[in-house]
Amino acid sequence: MNLGKTERSESNSPLSNIRPLEKIDRSSLRDQVLTSIRNAIITGKLKASDKISEVELSEQLGVSRTPVREAIRTLELHGFIEVHPKNGTYIASFDSEELQDGLHVRVALEELALKQALERMNSRDWQRHCDHLERLIQSMFAAADELDPVSDIELDMEFHTLMMDAAQNRILSRSWKLSGASNFIWSLEHVLYPHTKNELSEHANRHVSLLEVLRGRNLEACLDALRHHILRKINDIQIVGTEQDFQNA
Ligand SMILES: [Zn+2]
Repeated sequence: MNLGKTERSESNSPLSNIRPLEKIDRSSLRDQVLTSIRNAIITGKLKASDKISEVELSEQLGVSRTPVREAIRTLELHGFIEVHPKNGTYIASFDSEELQDGLHVRVALEELALKQALERMNSRDWQRHCDHLERLIQSMFAAADELDPVSDIELDMEFHTLMMDAAQNRILSRSWKLSGASNFIWSLEHVLYPHTKNELSEHANRHVSLLEVLRGRNLEACLDALRHHILRKINDIQIVGTEQDFQNA
C-alpha cells in the first residue's frame, strides 16, 4: 500500500496538528468488550452457566460499566448470556436444539447470499472473490500452526461474512449482522472448538474443500457443499451430546 502521497498532502493541512486525537468511538469500545467476553468463552476461561458480574468485568477490562452493560445486552439478544434480574447474569447454557435452529438459519441466509453472488458477479469478480477467500484460508493454516483458536474462529466469521457481502444485498448483510447469525460460527459449546493443531488444520481443510467447489461456479454443487459445510456441526453436536449423556449416566 502506498500511503506516502496521502500522508504528505494531509500533513500540510491546518488540521494536521489534531490528527492524533481521534474521536473515541463508544460502539467500538462495546465491541471490544464483546470480543473479549467471546474470546474468554472460546478459550474456556468462561464456561456455560458461569455467573458474570458487570462490575468485575468493567474492573478487569479497565472500562466503565456502560460499554460492559451494552455488550451484555447484545450478547443477551444473541442468546449467549442470560440475565435474571434478581439472581444475576450468566453465560447461557448450551442448548443443542437452539444451536441446530441457528445453523438452519445460517443455511437459509448463506444459500440466498450464494445464489445472488453467483448471479451478480461476473467470472472475473468471482475469481477475485475466491482468491480473497483463499487468503483467509491460508491465515487459518497459520492460526493452526500457532495453536490460536480465537484467530481461527475470527477468520471463519470473516470468511462467511465475505460470502454474505458478495451477494451485494445490503438488507441481507444487515440481517446477518443484526440477527447474530454470524455468531453461530462461534457459540457456547467450548468442547466443539478446534484446539489442537490437527483439529485446527482439519477445520481449515474443510474450507479448502468448500472453496474448490465454489471455484467451479456450479450453483447446485456450490449450494450442496455450503449446506454440508454448515450442517456438519450438527453431527458434532450430536456426538458431544451422546458423550455427555454417557458421562452423566
Ligand atoms: Zn466455515
